[in-house]
Amino acid sequence: MLEIAEKVLAGDKRAISRAISLVEDDAPEARCIMRELHAYTGSAYIIGVTGPPGVGKSTLVDSLANQYRKACKTVGIVAVDPSSPFSGGALLGDRIRMQRHALDPGVFVRSLASRGRVGGISAATSQVVKILDAAGKDVVIVETVGAGQSEVDIMQHAHSVVVVMAPGLGDDIQAIKAGILEIADVFAVNKADLDGAKKTLRDLEMALEMRSAKGWKPPVVLTVARSDQGTDELVRKLDEHVRFMQSGSGWQDKLEKRAMAEVRDLVAQTLVREVIGAEQQRLMCLSAMVALREIDPYQAASEIIEQYHRKVKEQPTEPER
Ligand code: GDP
Repeated sequence: MLEIAEKVLAGDKRAISRAISLVEDDAPEARCIMRELHAYTGSAYIIGVTGPPGVGKSTLVDSLANQYRKACKTVGIVAVDPSSPFSGGALLGDRIRMQRHALDPGVFVRSLASRGRVGGISAATSQVVKILDAAGKDVVIVETVGAGQSEVDIMQHAHSVVVVMAPGLGDDIQAIKAGILEIADVFAVNKADLDGAKKTLRDLEMALEMRSAKGWKPPVVLTVARSDQGTDELVRKLDEHVRFMQSGSGWQDKLEKRAMAEVRDLVAQTLVREVIGAEQQRLMCLSAMVALREIDPYQAASEIIEQYHRKVKEQPTEPER
C-alpha cells in the first residue's frame, strides 16, 4: 500500500491534507490513493448541510460538530463553495473554524472551492468525504454555500441532508421549494432568537404538507446556532432519520445512489479530461469565436465532441487495462 494511504488510514492530519490537495488538483496519484482507500470507507455518517447564504450554516455546522464531540465522536468538516473559483469566502470561514477547533485533534476542517476544476466540484467533494471516512472520522459534515444545482449534486453524497432556513428570507421559501425542499431530510429554522422564526416555521410546514405523505416526513427543528440551542434536538432528528432508513431499504438505496453518483461523476470527469485534452486547440479557437459572437457555445461544444468522436473512430485505442 502507498505510504500516504497508510498514513491516511492511521488518521495522520498531514497525510489527510496532502491527499485532499491531490484530489483537488486532480493529480494522477489521487486515483491510486482513492483506489486503495475505497475498501476502508463506509463507516462514517455523512451529513449534508445546505441552504441560502447567511442563514447561519457555518455556525450551525460548528454547533453540530460540538454536539458530536460531546458524544466522543470524531468529526470531519468539508465546506464547499461550488459557485466561486476563488476560495476567499470559504477560506475565511475555514480560518475562523480552524481557530475554534485548532486544539481539538478530533476535528478536521477543510474548505474546497471549485477552482474551475475538470469534472466538477461534486466529484471532488465525494472523494474528500471518502478520505475523511477512511481516516476514521465518525461523522463527516459537508456544508455548501449556495442553493443551486451543484449543491443538490453535492448533497447526493450524504446520508442525511439538513436544509437550513432563517427568518427574514422573504419569498425565498417559495423560490427554493423546487430543488432544495425535495432533498431535505431535516429542516433547521436557525436564528430562532429573531422575530419571524415561528412564521418561517409555519410557512415551511405548510409547504411540506403539500408534499406526498409517504415515507419519511422531514421534521423541522428550531435552532439558535450561535448559542448552541436546538442542535441537540437536531442531532436527535438525524439519529431518527438514520434509524428510519436502516429499518427499510432507505439506507441501502442511499448507498447505491451515492455509489452511482460517484461513478457517474468519475465518468464525467474522465470524459471531460479526455475530450478537452485531445481538443485543446479547437477549444481555444472555438471559444474565441464564441466570445466574438460568431458562433454560440452549444455549437462550439458539439463541434468539439463530434471532432473527438471522429478521431476516436479513426484510431481505436487500447482499452485501459
Ligand atoms: P452562512 O452563510 O449560512 O454559513 O451563515 P454564517 O454561519 O456565516 O452566519 C451568518 C451570520 O448569522 C453571522 O453573523 C452569524 O453570527 C449569525 N448567526 C448564526 N446563527 C445565528 C443565530 O442562531 N441567531 C442569530 N441571531 N444570528 C446567528
